[in-house]
Amino acid sequence: TRQMVVVTGASSGLGLACTKALVKKGKYYVICAVRDPAKMDQVAKEAGIKSTDYTAMKLELASLQSVRDFVRNLKAFKSARPLNHLICNAAVYLPADPTPRFTDDGFEMSLGVNHLGHFLLVNLLLDDMKKAKNPRVCIVGSITGNTNTIGGGLVYPRADLGDLSGLEKPGYTMVNGAKFDGAKAYKDSKVLNMMTVRELHKRLHKETGITFSSMYPGCIAETNLFREKREWFRKLFPVFMKYVTGGYVSEEEAGERLAQVISDPQCSKSGVYWSWNGNAQQVGALKQTKKNGKVLWEVAGAGGSGGEVFENSFSDDVMDDANAAKMWDLSMKLVGLE
Ligand code: NDP
Repeated sequence: TRQMVVVTGASSGLGLACTKALVKKGKYYVICAVRDPAKMDQVAKEAGIKSTDYTAMKLELASLQSVRDFVRNLKAFKSARPLNHLICNAAVYLPADPTPRFTDDGFEMSLGVNHLGHFLLVNLLLDDMKKAKNPRVCIVGSITGNTNTIGGGLVYPRADLGDLSGLEKPGYTMVNGAKFDGAKAYKDSKVLNMMTVRELHKRLHKETGITFSSMYPGCIAETNLFREKREWFRKLFPVFMKYVTGGYVSEEEAGERLAQVISDPQCSKSGVYWSWNGNAQQVGALKQTKKNGKVLWEVAGAGGSGGEVFENSFSDDVMDDANAAKMWDLSMKLVGLE
């Protein structure tokens, strides 16, 4: 029998490409956890994913009730069989919003969908997954949460969780308690995603036997994630990533990378943040030089091809153990598990 994998946000971009890559391997059955199952069936058809290889199941991450309903439906669907793997991939990126949007439970949207919805989902599935053979959970991270890289550090605003005081106050607009900034809210949520992986590993790997990891797929500049960005940005950004930083990756390859984290024996280690050679991560520094009065940008260590998976290091923000412990406690409260 095939192994069962839940992929959130499977109806677009990386999640769809990963679903395709998984079913191609022949040993996986994918539960596509999506906010719009009818859309999923449509895109699956277009992508050539056979109806015998997946099921679309409703999951609205902007509602904790929907997360709970999804888990109940999933358990009914698969009956006693444990879930083998979980991929938390869905995300919103809302850099153009002047004011915050809120989830059903009153959380700022990026925080609620990207972090808290997945936080609850993972926690509700642990007991079931620990019964499976070599179960794995991957929460997709991002370089944008890494303040020591071009993608994360140079492009403002930077991620900054502060002392997480925003999670203690009603309203929950920004994690560090500052004024709303949609681009920063996304980056903060990705830092929270990666922190969650480290905490899951520290607290629950030994007890459950589950492999917890995060990964950065490379910049997939074509996905809908950038749908809110202006037209010129959407046109230029892929070109920039491809030729300047060398961090560009096609949707198809990114999907294979995410599938690899679940399927490759090389990726069985828990508590790891996986990246691939040839990524923007390899880019050491962006140097500004002047030539004939013109400003030029030079990228040290750019390019490089390959695609070999390696253990990357988490950023200092993610490695902040005191904040991570606080994040865990506050998130548990916010999703109603404590
Ligand atoms: P897309 O916007 O193409 O995909 C995001 C997915 O999340 C969509 O399927 C979307 O559903 C789903 N989603 C959004 N809101 C909700 C919600 N409230 N409930 C349930 N599902 C929801 O972006 P990408 O494929 O690029 O992003 C996927 C992951 O990759 C994200 O975690 C992102 O942070 C990460 N990433 C992306 C990079 C890139 O370069 N693109 C780089 C680094 C990381 P729907 O199909 O209905 O719109």
